[in-house]
Amino acid sequence: MASLNSVNQWDREVDILIVGYGLSGAVTAIEAHDTDPDAEILVIDKCTERFQGGSSRASGQTLWCPKDVDATVEYQRALNYTNPVDDSLLRVWAEAMATQEEWIEERAVEADMEYVRRSARPGADPKHVTVEFEELPGAKKAVSYNSTIIPGPAGVWEAFRKNVEKRPRIERQFETAALDFVQDPDTLEIFGVIVERDGRRQAYKARKGVVMATGSFEGSMQMQRDFWGAEEIYALGNPENTGDGIRMMQKAGAELWHMRNFTQTGGLQPAIKVPEYKGAFFRQQFMEATSWLDIAADGKRFYDEGVIYAYTHYRMKKHGNWVDVPTHQVLPIHMIMDETTRLAQPLVALWKSWNIVVEGYEWSEDNSKEVEKGWITRADTIRELAVLIGRDPDLLEDTVNRYNEAARAGVDPEFGREADRMTPIENGPFYAIKVVPGVVAHTGGARRDEKSRVVTHESTPIPRLYEVGEMGSIFSNIYQNGGFLAECIAFGRIAARNVLAETPL
Ligand SMILES: Cc1cc2nc3c(=O)[nH]c(=O)nc-3n(C[C@H](O)[C@H](O)[C@H](O)COP(=O)(O)OP(=O)(O)OC[C@H]3O[C@@H](n4cnc5c(N)ncnc54)[C@H](O)[C@@H]3O)c2cc1C
Repeated sequence: MASLNSVNQWDREVDILIVGYGLSGAVTAIEAHDTDPDAEILVIDKCTERFQGGSSRASGQTLWCPKDVDATVEYQRALNYTNPVDDSLLRVWAEAMATQEEWIEERAVEADMEYVRRSARPGADPKHVTVEFEELPGAKKAVSYNSTIIPGPAGVWEAFRKNVEKRPRIERQFETAALDFVQDPDTLEIFGVIVERDGRRQAYKARKGVVMATGSFEGSMQMQRDFWGAEEIYALGNPENTGDGIRMMQKAGAELWHMRNFTQTGGLQPAIKVPEYKGAFFRQQFMEATSWLDIAADGKRFYDEGVIYAYTHYRMKKHGNWVDVPTHQVLPIHMIMDETTRLAQPLVALWKSWNIVVEGYEWSEDNSKEVEKGWITRADTIRELAVLIGRDPDLLEDTVNRYNEAARAGVDPEFGREADRMTPIENGPFYAIKVVPGVVAHTGGARRDEKSRVVTHESTPIPRLYEVGEMGSIFSNIYQNGGFLAECIAFGRIAARNVLAETPL
């Protein structure tokens, strides 16, 4: 922390300083702007303008807009069962969630876009509703449709970006990284933020308060190792979300919560990492082809690959509990497939993730470009393939033979893969690609209260410090689709109204 004495002069002074320009930062700015026409609002982000939007821009753009407050509290309480969050906070969140749909629709209209009640995934059945954990109390009443803003990609983000740009009094500064708070060491009151801009440290004063919207630590492998005990995990969203906000909060005396969160709340998605990009590609979640399998470090299969885990955010039920699909526990993993699977569809999702939406990589429909690049390894036989990817040929051949026998028999004695989700891997040539755990979101951060204020270990608010978005989210265990973006909106608006009510310094 920097004390007031260390600040010789302020380089900027505003009423509200929002750190991070993803959806939660954008919503906070819009709500503050529309609530107080005189408020001076500055949003800063460490990324360049080209890479604006955070993970919000890379995301699947599904929104959860519940209507029944009691059922939503009940369902969320059940989702959080391993790490309960106070009902009083859940109720404030649920009330905001249940009353924001009209406001979201207005933002879409203002951006000349359309709010629709269906998933953003191209080809998805518009009537399909993802109630991820429907056996939990409240689930069916709490989730009755998915919604999004079109056109995509990044429809929700684009709508809110346009809303921000339509409000010229919201100033945005890119390539401005928050480093530290300016804070009273005794009262913990926040006066502003030390930032790095144009290669030098500058002091920005926030007369009413600072709202932290910096996402989580998807881009910090060290923090993933320290908090999750994971070996290697790669960001599917913004790889620059490196936990800076969390480290600042620690120094500021905030209580952290949800840091472990069963590895992370969205489940670890199988992903594909190539040296050319910092983040990873989302492996196809809706695999049409069925002649493929995944092998673990020991060259053997380790789960039922045929299930569409997208519907439970890569959780599987074991012994009555929803646990992660064990990708992070069995590394290294290779996906093994034949020509039929290679030709069936792109191996990665083409409508979300940082590498596709923001970096703009165009993955080929038949994966041929990626074979040429050497990202996918090709061989005429399974034995040759094993040698090329550094695996034991006897082991790999044995695994594929066993799988092929199971596929022919229509019975998978090892993992129970459904007969119509497996066909033999026999149509050469054969292919392999390394699969890594990818992370979409993670909810560790500072504990927040009903006003979206950051609280200390004594449960007292740190004066003038607010937190919104994924960092410090109320999701503490398993996750309902669309919950993160909707929560960004709920707490963004709550924080904006409360920070505006502060007496200025
Ligand atoms: C591939 C993918 C699919 C997803 N699908 C969905 C979905 O369909 N529905 C859903 O609800 N959720 C989904 N999620 C999760 C959701 O997108 C995120 O939880 C949400 O966007 C987080 O928003 P945020 O505003 O908290 O953070 P972000 O949008 O990540 O924004 C954080 C910003 O803070 C900036 N920042 C970081 N550190 C600093 C610093 N020191 N100084 C200044 N700026 C800084 C970053 O550059 C970034 O721009 C998905 C995520 C991914 C990656």
